[in-house]
Order: sequence, then C-alpha cells, then structure tokens
Amino acid sequence: MQDSTHIQDAFENAQKQIRKACDLYDSCRLDQNKYEVISQPKRIIEVNIPVRMDDGNIKMFNGFRSQHNDARGPFKGGIRFHQDVNRSEVKALSMWMSFKCAVIDIPLGGGKWGITVNPKELSEGELERLSRGYVRAIYKYIGPETDVPAPDVNTNPKIMAWMMDEYSMLVGKYSPGSFTGKPLTSWGSKGRGAATAQWGVYVLQKILELRGEEIKGKTICLQGAGNAGLTMAGLMVDLGATVVWLSDSRGGIYNKEWIDIAKISEIKKNRGAVGDYKDAQTLWGKEVLEQECDILIPAALENQITQDNVKNIKANLILELANGPITPEADKVLEEMKIDVIPDILANAGGVMVSYFEQVQNNLNFYWEEEEVDAKLHKKITAAACSVAETATEYKTTYRAAAYIVAMKRIFDAMSDRGEV
Ligand code: NAD
Repeated sequence: MQDSTHIQDAFENAQKQIRKACDLYDSCRLDQNKYEVISQPKRIIEVNIPVRMDDGNIKMFNGFRSQHNDARGPFKGGIRFHQDVNRSEVKALSMWMSFKCAVIDIPLGGGKWGITVNPKELSEGELERLSRGYVRAIYKYIGPETDVPAPDVNTNPKIMAWMMDEYSMLVGKYSPGSFTGKPLTSWGSKGRGAATAQWGVYVLQKILELRGEEIKGKTICLQGAGNAGLTMAGLMVDLGATVVWLSDSRGGIYNKEWIDIAKISEIKKNRGAVGDYKDAQTLWGKEVLEQECDILIPAALENQITQDNVKNIKANLILELANGPITPEADKVLEEMKIDVIPDILANAGGVMVSYFEQVQNNLNFYWEEEEVDAKLHKKITAAACSVAETATEYKTTYRAAAYIVAMKRIFDAMSDRGEV
C-alpha cells in the first residue's frame, strides 16, 4: 500500500452524501427524523477472534459487522480483509450497501463485515481458521433471512465456501443461502465472478448512450487492477476502448498507445504487479488519477480523489467502481468543474445484484444458466440507470445525489409502511 488515506472519516463522508440528498428531497428535508434514522447503522458488532497460528501461538484479530438498515430485506454486504479496516469504514460501507440495494431495487438492506488483517501475511491454514473463527463469533446475528455476507476486498469464493460450511455446521443444516459469492460447487451463481465489472460496463454504456456517446474509441485511466477493475478493463477493451493508464497498490504504468489487459491479467494471476508489464512507462499509483483520458475509473479503495488532487483531474467522466473513492469535498469541486461522476452505489452494484440472484437460486434450489443471469442483469441496469438519470434531470443535480434520492424514497416508503418512521 502506498498510503492509507482511505481510512479517514469514511463514515462522515457517507453521512455527508446522505445529508446532501436529504436536503434536496422534500420528504427528508421536511422530516428530520428520517435523516436521523438512516444516518446511523442499526447495530455494530465488534469481535476479537483468537486464531491458532502455524507457529503454535494464538493471535487475536479484531473484526466488525455493521448492520445499517433492513427495512427492505435482510442486511447484505461484503466481507473485507484489510490491514486498515476500522469501525468507521465498516459503518460507511454498510450504509452505502443499503442505498445500493435500494437504488437497484432488490429486496435487501445494507451490511458490511471487516477484519483488520493483512491476509497476504497469513498461510492458507491461518486464513481458513480466521474465516471460520469469525463465523463462530457472529453466526447468531446472520443467516439467509437475517444478514447475508459476500466477498469484498481480499476475500473470495473459497473463503465464502469455508464460511458457509462453518455456518451450516453451527446451525445443523446445509445453508447455501447464508453466504453469496460462493464457488459453483457450493451453489454459487454463474456469472458472479464478472458481475461487478459487467454491470459497470452496462451502466457506462447506458449513461454514455444518454449523452449520445459510446464506449468505442474512449481512453481509460484505471486505478486498481483487481477483480472488479481488471475485469471491467478487459470488457471495455472488447468494446473498443483503450486503457492507457493503470495502477495497483505497488505502482502504475502508462502507454499512450494501449496496455495489453490480457497480459496484465496473466501477470496478476501469477501474483505479479502491473509494474512488471514491460511495454510501458512506470509511475507512482496515484498519478493515474490525474492523467488525460476520457473516462477515469477508480477501482481500488476509498478517498483516492480528495481536495489535494481533485483540481488535477483531466477525465471528462468518472465511474466509481470502488466504494467511496471520492471525498464529498472533492465531489463538490468536480461538480463545479462539470465532470460527471457515475456514483459507486449505482456503478458497482453488479456484485450485489448477482449475489441476490444467487440467494434466489439457493432458496429455490434451482440454478440458472449464465445467459439467463446476464439477461436479468441487463434488464435491471436499464431500469436503475434510467431512474437515476431522470431524477438527476428532475432535481437538476448530480448522478450521485439523484441515486441517493431514488434509494432514499424506496427506503423511507418501506420504513413508513412498516411503521418505523
Ligand atoms: P481486489 O482486492 O480484487 O482489488 C483491489 C485492487 O486495488 C488491487 O489490484 C490492489 O493492488 C489495488 N489497490 C489497492 N490500493 C491501491 C492504491 N492505493 N492505488 C492503486 N491500486 C490500489 O478488490 P476488488 O474486489 O476489485 O474491489 C475493488 C473495489 O471495488 C473496492 O472498493 C470494493 O469495495 C469495490 N467493489 C468490488 C466488488 C466486487 O464484486 N469485487 C463489488 C462492489 C464494489
């Protein structure tokens, strides 16, 4: 990691985003109780998990589960393993999940897990014991009808299978619907691996279409060469875009002609860094954000575009594939600079959308082909992107504020019908 700025006040930032939308939306502006209720998670569980390390000693790991809002359905959200995980970050991520599930209109609420650990320092056995220990610590608060976790940064299908197995043993029955993002052998959904990236592409296509543009011919700056970012880069290249700037946690590269994403994927699969790619100039990671290109895609961590670097942004459009990569202060400057931002809660919702499909299939015990998953994904994005774009026009505001207004309305309606507000 080159820096850890992403840990600063993620929760405060999330609250500011909601505040802004609330001030625009009469139903919230005129009834401050509504803001009060959604501006905090309902429950935060903090645990310390003892793990027997390979050397025989026991080490304690600190973890959190934040459950923000479940008015529209069970809490839903990823599990992050990262050395900078903290309470504020997990609270923010759970809040974004509530709005994300509402803006794409699925019957789920918002939650998030985080464990403060650098998983790269653990052996596979230690990682499995940590994953299982975490489930033992909080299994009473989760479950298919209560709270359904999924992968996030540094967690993957294998970890979900361990966790689902541990949960199933604890409750005494096979419970595939307790976790999503599982491998296909444990009844994950076809299409889950590329879902976030595929959805990102569909969102981008739709928004560009509304602006009379297309992906073909666009140049891309991409920060973060992981599951979400690199997969999206590959899909955009297939549609005729060119990635010219790219970075991961160890640095960045630049080639004004093109960067071969297939080659980068090979390098990353072999645990290399993007800097190992030979046909490009190397640079520090954060510089990637400030370069000339049509579309900038932050796909790493929070708080990457801040007051310090926002004025250097040169892209015409930003798609937030990461959660919370732009601080509210920087967001305001981007608005003044007339650089449109497709917000995270809309742009990266593909993972949770297919997680929802996975849950539906687990509940039915009947499984869909990839084409069926993709067709359902496409249908949902068209509805979500159009309602955000229409709301942005109606309220004369940004896509971000519009997305929050769309989501807020749905959450408040559910809370109001249930008598919560
Ligand atoms: P990942 O762990 O697969 O990849 C993260 C990438 O970011 C890695 O290449 C890492 O090297 C890079 N990175 C980390 N710090 C960096 C820095 N300072 N500068 C440049 N690169 C840096 O994670 P992911 O699953 O791709 O998730 C990335 C982001 O997308 C996160 O914000 C996550 O919450 C969000 N997201 C992911 C999904 C999903 O399905 N994977 C869904 C929704 C949102």
